Amino acid sequence: MSTSPLPICTACGTQYSSPPPHHPSPPPAKSVSTPANSSLPPANHGQPCPNYKKRTKTNSPKTRPNPTPQGNILWDLITLLDPETVDFIKSKGGLKAIVISHPHYYTTYVEWARVFGCEVLVSKEDREWLCREPEGVVRFLEGEVEEVVRGVTAIKTGGHFRGSLVLCWEGRLCIADTIVTVPSAYTPHPRPPGQTSYSFQWSIPNMIPLPPDDILRIWRAIKPFKFDTTHGAFVGMDVRDKGLKRRMLESMKIQVRGEGWDKHEILEEVVDEVEGSI
Ligand SMILES: [Zn+2]
Repeated sequence: MSTSPLPICTACGTQYSSPPPHHPSPPPAKSVSTPANSSLPPANHGQPCPNYKKRTKTNSPKTRPNPTPQGNILWDLITLLDPETVDFIKSKGGLKAIVISHPHYYTTYVEWARVFGCEVLVSKEDREWLCREPEGVVRFLEGEVEEVVRGVTAIKTGGHFRGSLVLCWEGRLCIADTIVTVPSAYTPHPRPPGQTSYSFQWSIPNMIPLPPDDILRIWRAIKPFKFDTTHGAFVGMDVRDKGLKRRMLESMKIQVRGEGWDKHEILEEVVDEVEGSI
């Protein structure tokens, strides 16, 4: 495997061009590994440590090839790029592009781009978190919405990070943890009224929620798109429901009311009956 021997933080999975700085992150941080010794520990998901990764296989929801007639678009990355993963993706036709939702998934993006000969798309707002930036690898998303290839759209929602993205493809919304899937999302129908499906967090392990204006921005970003499926950050975080867009908005209102707001623009928002499902 032609991966670089550059050091990888064992706490967050980020590959650096030099020994990494000390992260103000919880134990067991502050040690490094290399691709040849990638015994990465379980996730340590805490800002400002920019990345975290568990070792999972490429066909898990975390690293998701989205096939299109124009080529495969890979959504988010894991640190470990082993021959099995490379063979699997190449057997599916390789990659047209990689889109990374936010810095927790930057990991070894330079290695992935080189192995598959494709560009990596990230938000310009999160450029400060890139630990390596060789020429010709990264393309920055400048606008709020960009169709990566026909039918696959990167949507900038902000919130969790300033440039946090989701990706819409054929009624599926890949949300990573830009939008957090919560356990009650899986309550079967008939669902009790007022039960939430998603949470909107600035920091997930430190449980710092997003304020109403940030939640409203997320809603306005995704509102024009139809979806009935969300793919979350980990295995088992997929949700499918023809009323899912309404549940997304309902979850936003539940959180905003829980934060003490009786009046806010987000509480006046509605989902069009036609647009709400596909
Ligand atoms: Zn994250």
